[in-house]
Amino acid sequence: MNYSNVCALSCKFCEFYRKRGDEGAYEHSIEDVRREARGAVESGATEMHIVGGLHPYLPFEYYTDMMRAIREEADAAAGGLESPPPCDTSAPGRLHIKAFTAVEVVHLAKIAKVYKQSDRKAGIRHVLEKLKEAGLGSLPGGGAEVFDDRIHDEAFKGKIRSDVWLDVHRVAHELGLNTNATILYGHIDHADERLVHMDMLRKAQDEALTRLGYEAAADGSVTLTRAGVAQPTPDMTTRGGYFQTIIPLPFFPDGSDLEALPGPGGLENLRTIAVSRLMLDNFPHVKAFWIMQTLGMAQLMLQCGADDIDGTVVWYDITKVGGSSTHQETTAWDLQQAIREAGLEPVERDTLYRRVERDGKKWWLSA
Ligand code: SF4
Repeated sequence: MNYSNVCALSCKFCEFYRKRGDEGAYEHSIEDVRREARGAVESGATEMHIVGGLHPYLPFEYYTDMMRAIREEADAAAGGLESPPPCDTSAPGRLHIKAFTAVEVVHLAKIAKVYKQSDRKAGIRHVLEKLKEAGLGSLPGGGAEVFDDRIHDEAFKGKIRSDVWLDVHRVAHELGLNTNATILYGHIDHADERLVHMDMLRKAQDEALTRLGYEAAADGSVTLTRAGVAQPTPDMTTRGGYFQTIIPLPFFPDGSDLEALPGPGGLENLRTIAVSRLMLDNFPHVKAFWIMQTLGMAQLMLQCGADDIDGTVVWYDITKVGGSSTHQETTAWDLQQAIREAGLEPVERDTLYRRVERDGKKWWLSA
């Protein structure tokens, strides 16, 4: 759900944002949000993924009310269950709320008037604690772009820089919230800058995994891809959260202020997946984001290091393929076919990467 496309910023690559009063500008009421949540539960969704523009006028309470409204609707639809036990097929799964990129979290800290440059982590912590209390389950990975001040200042000026983005995710991990990470590549960035980005992510993940009890090598690094190394699991979030997946996002120039640029080609996209898998060997998963690259390309990405395809998305306004349509949808059956054709076994997961069993729209967590 994109709750609003009204944004205080005007990033060059973005064709999503509007200014208030512009044609096509919108903001959802809490009633709209409830309707969306009901619709999600009724259609058998495991997750609501929520992001929006940096709305300059909505108060902080709008966001906590949004979380509470979704929780109420989802829990009412699921019979008021607090936490269905694993393997209990009579207990429907609980809709997970994954919401707000790092730049939105910082924006919320500013509108809640708790953000101070001298101690930004305190403001971020305040906001994330309140959102978690209201029902937030995890953070998506958007807004990272490429961690480099030159790129940031040329293409994403006004958005948070890498140190702030990483602080938001560090604080989320400290609070036991899992998060994802992205890299938006193929615009004014260079290959070496992408590697620096990945290195910064892997160091932040080393910190998170060490907190969970993983033993680090002499240089402080943790590796998850070695044979016999157990993967982190959601029950570890009592000790802290961690990055679950890296999502390489190719830049699509159409309709943005950078549309004179060619954008990355297919081979470059596949190589970026492969390099992500190699560099981020402490990330449990690498995602083939078919929404931006088609399901056919995603099959090749599965053979280049990705192990995750996401998902049967219905609406995704922020990242349009070629600017053509905002309605992008596939079926579970199509995803399963694509995965099998790529030589792999499809497994449905929830947001926290737990195995899901499903009977039509009813789903539950597997053992
Ligand atoms: S990318 Fe995000 S912050 Fe930038 S203009 Fe678009 S909606 Fe606003």
